[in-house]
Amino acid sequence: MIKKQREKSHKLLTHEAAMRRVPKSHPKYPILEQEHGKLSYGHKGEEALDYFLTYLPNDNYLILNSLRLEDPKGRYFQIDSLLLAPTHCIILDSKYMSGKLEFDESANQLLRHLPGSEDIEKIGDPLSQITRQRHQLSLWLEKNGFPSIPIASLIVLTHNNAALIRTTPSINKKVTFHTNLPNRLKEIDENISKGNIVLSNKDLQKLSKTLIKKHTPDHFRLLNNYNIAENELITGVICINCSTAPMLRKRGVWCCQRCSAYSKDAHLEAIRDYKLLIGETISNKELRSYLRLPSASVSSKYLISMGLKFEGSFKNRRYFL
Ligand SMILES: [Zn+2]
Repeated sequence: MIKKQREKSHKLLTHEAAMRRVPKSHPKYPILEQEHGKLSYGHKGEEALDYFLTYLPNDNYLILNSLRLEDPKGRYFQIDSLLLAPTHCIILDSKYMSGKLEFDESANQLLRHLPGSEDIEKIGDPLSQITRQRHQLSLWLEKNGFPSIPIASLIVLTHNNAALIRTTPSINKKVTFHTNLPNRLKEIDENISKGNIVLSNKDLQKLSKTLIKKHTPDHFRLLNNYNIAENELITGVICINCSTAPMLRKRGVWCCQRCSAYSKDAHLEAIRDYKLLIGETISNKELRSYLRLPSASVSSKYLISMGLKFEGSFKNRRYFL
């Protein structure tokens, strides 16, 4: 049963917003585009995991996706999918990459052999990463008053065109293809389920609730990170049909000057971008300039229609997005 749905990370969401708001001619655009590609690729892999999780061998599993937790030493760790059962839990880590992949255990490296060349790309160290996650999760459980429970983990290769080369029995234990995931989970289930029941159903529900409560979404300050100034961003409402900015407001409706598409609430998308890239609060004046509105009263109308909470009076008033 899915207890927590998969969600896009704040880092991915901010990069999506940047793809709309940073001009293509900006010197940072190519790096942004590259990073955006990586992030959305990773997210796609996690989604591929979800499909095979619907074939779970054990209906008792509670599934929590996209968790980000803080261990007792203040270090954050992320789990793509966490499966909870009365006897054990399983951490799944998705790796979405195509090509010939090799887990080099002696060098602690994942290597990708590039097609048509001798070149090898080094892609981090997922084996150590997943060992670290297991350790951090057990610390977290202890700190939050839960009994110690066996934690298994699996690296799941989620790309249809991925192949494993030079594998060893030890690698095969730690890595699997998404298509084989239900079988591997069944194996883990059968091996560990002989063990003791550590968590009653009530405990499981409590654990799942606590995990969701303690989940802390990441917060990525994109403009700071890439050293991009606020005034370099594209302002105005972007056309939902042809991506041209700005749409113009005519008789209360947003109209595209290029393709004539119109929309009543296209400003909401623009305001979401503002929140992702610029800030969580906005003044009337800032909204007016950002949406390129003709007057303070129109700007005020939008702020009121969104029913936002605010603080400060009159000119200093700031609305919480
Ligand atoms: Zn348009």
